[in-house]
Amino acid sequence: MDRYPGTRGLAFREALLWERSRKGRIGLSLPEQDVPRSELDAGLVGDGPDLPELSEVDVVRHYTRLSTWNCGVDTGTYPLGSCTMKYNPKINDRVAGLPGFANLHPMMPVECIQGALSLMYALERDLLEITGMHAASLQPSAGAQGELAGMLMIHAYHAHRGRQRRKIIMPATAHGTNPASAALCGYSPVPVQLSQDGIMTPEAIREVMDEDTAGIMITNPNTLGIFESHIAEIAKIIHEKGGLVYGDGANLNALMGYADVEKMGIDVLHVNVHKTLSTPHGGGGPGAGPVVVRDVLEPFLPVPRVVKDGDRYTLSSDAPLSIGRLHSFFGNFAVLVRALAYTRTLGKHLKDVTEMAVLNANYVKAGLKGVYNLPFPQPSLHECIFNDAIQRKQGVTTLDVAKRLIDFGYHPPTVYFPLVVDGALMIEPTETESKADLDGFVEALRAIAGEAAANPAMVTDTPKNTAVARPDEVLAARHLILRGETPQ
Ligand SMILES: *Cc1c(COP(=O)(O)O)cnc(C)c1O
Repeated sequence: MDRYPGTRGLAFREALLWERSRKGRIGLSLPEQDVPRSELDAGLVGDGPDLPELSEVDVVRHYTRLSTWNCGVDTGTYPLGSCTMKYNPKINDRVAGLPGFANLHPMMPVECIQGALSLMYALERDLLEITGMHAASLQPSAGAQGELAGMLMIHAYHAHRGRQRRKIIMPATAHGTNPASAALCGYSPVPVQLSQDGIMTPEAIREVMDEDTAGIMITNPNTLGIFESHIAEIAKIIHEKGGLVYGDGANLNALMGYADVEKMGIDVLHVNVHKTLSTPHGGGGPGAGPVVVRDVLEPFLPVPRVVKDGDRYTLSSDAPLSIGRLHSFFGNFAVLVRALAYTRTLGKHLKDVTEMAVLNANYVKAGLKGVYNLPFPQPSLHECIFNDAIQRKQGVTTLDVAKRLIDFGYHPPTVYFPLVVDGALMIEPTETESKADLDGFVEALRAIAGEAAANPAMVTDTPKNTAVARPDEVLAARHLILRGETPQ
């Protein structure tokens, strides 16, 4: 049997719910009414929304069948670069669903939520131990909101020192959310030249850093999967001119247990706990993007903060310089429960996560070297980036390779990002894939390269085995069909 899973199984055709709808069909049976009928306000009822009428079994089958059209981390390798789509231990979901957590009312007085507060305090301590930083807030509900929190703190820091600045240094490898977060704080991004090796150099930073620049946003390892080895020196240059260093910690999977973020000179960092520390994500969340800071930024952290006083935990909003509240109640609490379950399950073995994530990425890199073009051939950390320079000569593009991979049973890697690599195929296998699974994945990509060389049409006209092949992605995003009408 082939080593890759392939997709030859069931792919039900599926009608829209509105097409299955039958007048009077219903998903529940209520007992006969034994109180007098009372008309609702006519204005409230009207014609009502156009909802399909269906039985319970219609609805369950519809959504279960649609779920079989997707690749997911529970169906196979999901090597979406920069997203860390690792398998998530089910025990973490189970723990987050315990009634004591799941039924907790967020308006309970602090005396009644000591357990929840102690959990949050413990997770903050774990994040501080992993990063080497000084203080934390669990409030931001995603990486992007963590960035916003960090940039608001940097903004508040400069305002407090009496002179606001206008610019922020941004490498071309940055995730799109970085310039967006900076812009929300009124900063304009200043691009910086990368070296041949795909990293920032102290010389390039020295050229652009000035006293009107609030700081820099650095992702380390960067989105090429390469460690920014000059980071400490770069941070020194920024600090000497009164700026601060924002660290995008989405790639913490490559650092845990090996690198101390504080020693890199980072002043504030967000952690994508839904990437690094489990929680199923994708499809829009929920996630959490806690921030950790060096002591200079502690006064600016969001409130309320969890404070430990002897054996007791309280929530404190006594912080006059705080940027304020970013999220109602405690942030995305169930995601935080999963993160703590993950750190406490692995403990010092979090270091093995990093080791395996880096090893797996380099294994894939070695397996595909020469078959796909490797723009940055030096060793990388948790992800590796190829492009379609070889296949394009045959008229086969990165998008074609990604689509063909679905026929082989794999979710495609991230494509066309980072922008500095033309036609990028960005692969992040994560630590959870076995050697056998990685071999299958590599073999599939090698087979596709073989097809592209021998008969490009085998790759360009794909995927062949899925219910939907190539939707118009722009139209699909711009013209949402929510009511069952057919697009014009
Ligand atoms: C995922 C990611 C983000 C944004 O995180 P979200 O949780 O999706 O908002 C920011 N930077 C990098 C490098 C990322 O990979």
